Amino acid sequence: MNLPRTEKNLIDIKSMNLPDLEAFFLSIGESKGRALRVYKHIWQRGATTFDEMNDIAKSTRAKLNECAEITFLETISHKISDDGTQKFLWRIPQGGAIESVLIPDTNRDNNGRDRMTLCVSSQWGCAMKCSFCLTGDLGLKGQLKASQIANQPLQVSKTLPEGVRITNIVMMGMGEPLHNYKNLVIALRNMLHNQALDISHRKLTVSTVGLIPAIKKLSAELPVNLAISLNASNQEQRVEVMPITKRYGLDELIQCCKELNLPHGKRIAFEYVMMAGFNDSMEDAHRVYDLLCDLPAKVNLIPYNENPDRTIKRPSADQVKAFQHYLVSRGMNCTVRKTRGIDISAACGQLGKGVRPLSVKENL
Ligand code: SF4
Repeated sequence: MNLPRTEKNLIDIKSMNLPDLEAFFLSIGESKGRALRVYKHIWQRGATTFDEMNDIAKSTRAKLNECAEITFLETISHKISDDGTQKFLWRIPQGGAIESVLIPDTNRDNNGRDRMTLCVSSQWGCAMKCSFCLTGDLGLKGQLKASQIANQPLQVSKTLPEGVRITNIVMMGMGEPLHNYKNLVIALRNMLHNQALDISHRKLTVSTVGLIPAIKKLSAELPVNLAISLNASNQEQRVEVMPITKRYGLDELIQCCKELNLPHGKRIAFEYVMMAGFNDSMEDAHRVYDLLCDLPAKVNLIPYNENPDRTIKRPSADQVKAFQHYLVSRGMNCTVRKTRGIDISAACGQLGKGVRPLSVKENL
């Protein structure tokens, strides 16, 4: 059995799905039932040590203490924006830091609860180099382990007041999730499992620049929501801001979306960062409509969040409204994303900004 390992060369128990954990328990002479109890302790009760698992035999705990580890992310900082958005900066033992953003929203979900969305990172940095995104400036520094991905919702949920829980998870933090496919899928399974984090597949969204083979694989493997970062209305324009388009062309990406066997009622979200004078004209709106009109699509317009590291400008509110109005008038589901957490650099495209000022000492 190829077991995931921690930095201490112990078994990284949080980087395993339940069937693998059960197989591991059988291999050390323990039962599947005990594996399930340990799994629940870890993901539902947030156990930090094996010794606190009172219903697990002492001899089993001793075995686990010798060969396995329950890992956690170390908090470097936790900032709260004026609008209630919270940004968590975590240290990772690979030597760097990653961020998660919690976005409370008083729009109720279908269960009548206030929506609480967590934006989760999948990589330390990112290799995709989208021109408008500060995370892309870092380059790819490292892949997150499955435990480090799923620890983000687990640890953030422990900071919430009694009765409040994370209702939605979006894989839209640092990194391109599908570029860390194997670890992502293990983490997603632990988020979805009803004996673990128990997030509904309707509330779990994976965002991608459009890595076509991985999109096909994921949609065949898990029923999670898919979001595509579109950000342009034609091939040439998209190549300018998203270099990955040279490898996976826009037409090929749209064709791939058309061929996906989506579960009934699921739509693909297309994220469109609007940049003034670049992709915000009415001609762009027409082309976006033509691209997406045959798809079960919803469009999420994201007016660019200006920052000192880029000369890109945010379009006017009227321009954004006109763009949205055109798509809606043609029968397309189109919303405009509210800017959240801009004062703590937690808004879209800003992640990674809080990571760079880390001194060498802090990085040790
Ligand atoms: S937008 Fe996403 S995929 Fe593109 S560089 Fe930023 S983190 Fe990477």
